[in-house]
Amino acid sequence: MHGSSTLGAQKILTTHSVASVVYNNISKQKELRANNRFKAGDIIIPFSAGETLIEPTYLTVQTGENEHITLVPEFLQYTNHSCRPTVFFDTTNMVLLALRDIEIMEELTFFYPSTELNMSDSFDCFCGESECLTHIKGAAFMSIDILAKYRLTDFINSKIHIKKQPKD
Ligand SMILES: [Zn+2]
Repeated sequence: MHGSSTLGAQKILTTHSVASVVYNNISKQKELRANNRFKAGDIIIPFSAGETLIEPTYLTVQTGENEHITLVPEFLQYTNHSCRPTVFFDTTNMVLLALRDIEIMEELTFFYPSTELNMSDSFDCFCGESECLTHIKGAAFMSIDILAKYRLTDFINSKIHIKKQPKD
């Protein structure tokens, strides 16, 4: 699961406003890839809660204590994890943000522990980035030093009490 790949190994399954769901023949995974270019800090798309659940599933994003939402628009569920993510689910403002400049057909990925505190299952990451953490768990189980390198939701920050340097 989770990996980068060449465009030739992909088949577009569905196209949506800002991104397409593509099937990656190498990783055998569905991925979300940008239809437009985005600049770092851009709002890619607002999102809202379909259902709010008290337990996480593989489709939900955590928005609070015992609060896990299914994503609307639904295609956002295909946002895979990466240890070098391109997007961030801002669950305070309910917008998907670009963390860096994103090119057309670049994969939209997020850092799983940026929203998830406790995870029912951990997983091995094959994102292929040089900084890959290999083994991904909820933020509660990751080291503060590692988490400090990532943008995290206000909820996660409130739980792990990271003091970050202010950005200029
Ligand atoms: Zn990784």
